[in-house]
Amino acid sequence: MKQQQQRTVVLYPSPGMGHLITMVELGKLIHLRLRLPVTILIASPPFNLGNPTPYINAIESSDLGISFHYLPQPLDFSHQDHNAQHHELLVFKFLNACNPHVKDKLELISKSSTILAIVVDFFCVASISVAAANLGSPVYVYFTSPAGALASCLYHNELHRRSDVSFRHLNVDLHIPGIPPLPSRDMPLPMLDREDTYFCLLESSSQMCRAQGIILNTFDALEPRALQAISDGLCTPNGSTPPLHTIGPVITAEKKMDSDAECLNWLDSQPDRSVVFLCFGSLGRFSVDQLAEIADGLERSGQGFLWVVRGPARGPGPALASEDPDLEALLPRGFLERTHGKGLVVKSWAPQVRVLSHEAVGGFVTHCGWNSVLESIIAGVPMVAWPLYAEQRINRVLLVKEMGLAIAVQEGTDGLVGAAEVERCVRLLLESEEGSALRERAAEARDAGAAVVREGGSSWAGLARLADEWVVRAGTTKGS
Ligand code: UDP
Repeated sequence: MKQQQQRTVVLYPSPGMGHLITMVELGKLIHLRLRLPVTILIASPPFNLGNPTPYINAIESSDLGISFHYLPQPLDFSHQDHNAQHHELLVFKFLNACNPHVKDKLELISKSSTILAIVVDFFCVASISVAAANLGSPVYVYFTSPAGALASCLYHNELHRRSDVSFRHLNVDLHIPGIPPLPSRDMPLPMLDREDTYFCLLESSSQMCRAQGIILNTFDALEPRALQAISDGLCTPNGSTPPLHTIGPVITAEKKMDSDAECLNWLDSQPDRSVVFLCFGSLGRFSVDQLAEIADGLERSGQGFLWVVRGPARGPGPALASEDPDLEALLPRGFLERTHGKGLVVKSWAPQVRVLSHEAVGGFVTHCGWNSVLESIIAGVPMVAWPLYAEQRINRVLLVKEMGLAIAVQEGTDGLVGAAEVERCVRLLLESEEGSALRERAAEARDAGAAVVREGGSSWAGLARLADEWVVRAGTTKGS
C-alpha cells in the first residue's frame, strides 16, 4: 500500500519572515535538486512578526513543488503572554501550544504521502517528540544561524552547569569550543538573565540533540573550526551531538518588483563601490536619537549611501514598526535635501540581495542577521557589524575575529552609536587600506561560497548525502 504513495519532505519553520524565507529556499533546493515534493507547515501567531501571506501566495503560484498547510490557531495560547519581554518567549509558548495541531497535520499528510523526513526550525524543536513518537519519520533541525552560534547553543548546558551566575553578571570571556572567546554579555539578549526564555532556550538545545541530524546554512570553508568542534562532540561533553549537514550558503533569489526600481535605478547612477548600504533586517529599528546620529555620521563621511529607515517602535513587544515612516519627521531637518544625489533613504524595505550585488555598493552596515551576512558574502561585500537582537552579537564576534569579513561598530556607554563612530566605520570601509583588505577577504569568501554549492562542492555533496539518507531509510522502513 505504502509503495504507491507519493513521497514528501515536511518543513516546519518558526514564525517570522527571516525564518520562513530561508526554509522556503531549503524547500526549493530539495525540490529542484532532489525532485522531492515539499510540504511546509505554517503556524500563524496572533502577534505581528510580518505578514507572510503575499510571499506564500507568490511561492504557491510559481509552481515550485511546494505546498503550504496552515495549522489552526491553538485555543489555549493565552493573550496575556503578549507582554513578554522577549518575543522569543512568545514564539516558544505559541509553538508549544501548536504541537497537537502539528501531530494532527502530520497524521493527515501521512495518509496520502510517505513522509521521508521532517525538518524543523530550532524554535520548533519541541515538536520533535510529537513527530518522532507518532510517525517514526526522521526529524532534522534546520539551524538558520552560523555554526559558531550552534556551538554556543549546544555548549549552553555545559556553561549552565559550571556557573549559577547569569551571563549578564558573569562578566568574563566564555571559552566555547570552536569559536573565539565570547564576552558573556554577547550571548543572545534573552539568555542574559535566568528567566523563562533562558530556560526555554536551554531546554531546546537539549531537545535539538535528539534530532537525526542538524542541517546548517553555512559552509565548511567558512566555519571549519566550529564545525569540527561540534562534530567532535566538544560542545556536548555530557551527551551526543547529531551529525551535521552543511548545505549553505542558501540565499533568496529575489524577483524584480516595480517598487524596487527607484533604488536600483539610483544605484545605476553611482560610481562603482562608492555607496555604503545600511539595512537592519526585517525587524531592526532605531530611536529618533539614534537615527539622527546615523544621519549626521553619513553626512560627515561624505560617502554615498543607501539607507533603509523604519519608524521607531510604538511600544513594547514584537509588533512591527510602521511600514510608512514619515522620513521628514524622523530625520534631522534638512538632511534629505543636503544629501540629495549623494545618498538615498528608502522606507522600511529594500531589495537587499539585488542591492548587495550592485556594483555601486562597496560596503554593508548590517545587524548581522545570518541571512544578511550570507547575502553579503555571496556578493563579496565587506561589512560593518552592528548587532541588534537574537544571536547577532555572537555573529559579530565570528565575522570580526574568526572570518575577518567585518569591522565592529563601537557603542557608547549609553548604548548609542555616535555620529563620529558612524563616520569612522563608513570611511574605513570605503576609503582605507583596511577596507581594501576586508574587500579582498570578502571576495575570497564569495568565491569559496560559490564553489561549495556547485556540483561536487561540499554543500552540494552535503545535500545529496542527506537525500540518500532519507531515501535509504524510507526503503529500509518499508522493507522492515
Ligand atoms: N531584507 C530585505 N530588505 C530589507 C530588510 C531585509 O530584503 O529591507 C531581507 C534580507 O535580504 C534577508 C532577510 O530579509 O534575507 C532578513 O534576514 P536576516 O536573517 O538577515 O535577519 P532577520 O530579519 O531574521 O533578523
